[in-house]
Formats: sequence, structure tokens, C-alpha cells
Amino acid sequence: MSQAKPGAAELEAAIRNVPDFPKPGIQFKDITPILSSPQLFAASIEQLTGHFKPGEVDVVVGIDARGFIFAGAAALKLGAAFVPIRKKGKLPWFVHEQGYDLEYGSNTLAIHIDAIQPGTRVILVDDLLATGGTAAAAAALIHKLGGHLLEINFLIELSFLKGREKLKDLPVRSVVIY
Ligand code: AMP
Repeated sequence: MSQAKPGAAELEAAIRNVPDFPKPGIQFKDITPILSSPQLFAASIEQLTGHFKPGEVDVVVGIDARGFIFAGAAALKLGAAFVPIRKKGKLPWFVHEQGYDLEYGSNTLAIHIDAIQPGTRVILVDDLLATGGTAAAAAALIHKLGGHLLEINFLIELSFLKGREKLKDLPVRSVVIY
């Protein structure tokens, strides 16, 4: 008897909700139970990017740090390049930087200046959409290099934080929506 492949419902069931981490009032969405199951990890990549065929995407961009896990695997599956966006000061070559505001304070993301060629077809993959500041800054860096951003793909979206409003001109797709 063959077993059906896991889908979004099975992924949602595996996500562990950790209250008050990393600080009081935040409910952290822990994706490590997905990663520890080969079937669920494979399903997460399928659900994130299975609507693209190999050859339709040139570059998968991932955001430091959990985004790397999903974006790297998606790039291999799609036969695409992988490009990292990291926090300021971590990339060794010349970079473009983009700042964004957090609830308290601010942050800066960076990308290598030669990471994406103008006109290449890019998707951005990250683990979670919360307020949208991180993804908006990453999208700005991709556009600065002339990348054609096809879609932003999140495994999890916290829709009550209205992150899509910061990404309003960009196609956004999420697998598990709270
Ligand atoms: P934001 O810029 O507010 O959309 O935050 C997105 C980033 O913060 C994602 O890359 C997540 O890794 C992380 N993040 C924010 N909120 C949570 C949460 N409740 N659980 C897990 N990760 C989170």
C-alpha cells in the first residue's frame, strides 16, 4: 500500500509552538521537527517551490539563517543557483546593504554586489513572514542588482502581523498560514 505524500496540514502539525521565546509574548514557530523528518523536509521544499519546474528559476535567494536551509534545498531541486543574504558584516566581498526597522531598533542586510546578474529570474525563500521588514529589505537588495523577482515563498506566515502590506507590489506565497 502506498502512502500519500505529506502536505501543508502535516507540515503545520509538525511545527512546534514555543511560548515566550526568545522573549516574553513571542510565540516562536520551531521548524526543527520538520527538518528532522526526511519526508516532511522533502514535503516542505515541494510545497514551497513545487509549482516551479526546473529551468524556470535562475537563482534562489535565502535569508540568514533559517532561510538558508530551505532556499539551499530548493535551489538544488530547481537546478538553480543559491545566493545568500546575510546580516551586515558577515559577507566577505563587496556588498550592497539595506537597513530596515525592527519592533525595537533596526537591522541591516547585505548581498554581494556580483551575486545576481541583471534580468535573471529570482525567487526569495524564507522560513517565516512576520512583520515583513526582513523580506522587504531582501527584495530591495535583489531589485538593486537588477534581479527579476518572480515570487517570495514562505513556509510560515503570521498573517495577523500583516507582513504582506510591506510586500504589497510583490507576489507572495505561503505554505502554512496562521
Ligand atoms: P519579519 O521581518 O518581522 O517578517 O521577521 C521575519 C524573520 O524573523 C524570519 O526570518 C524569522 O526567522 C524570524 N521570526 C519572526 N517571528 C518569528 C516567530 N514567531 N517564530 C520564528 N521565527 C520568527
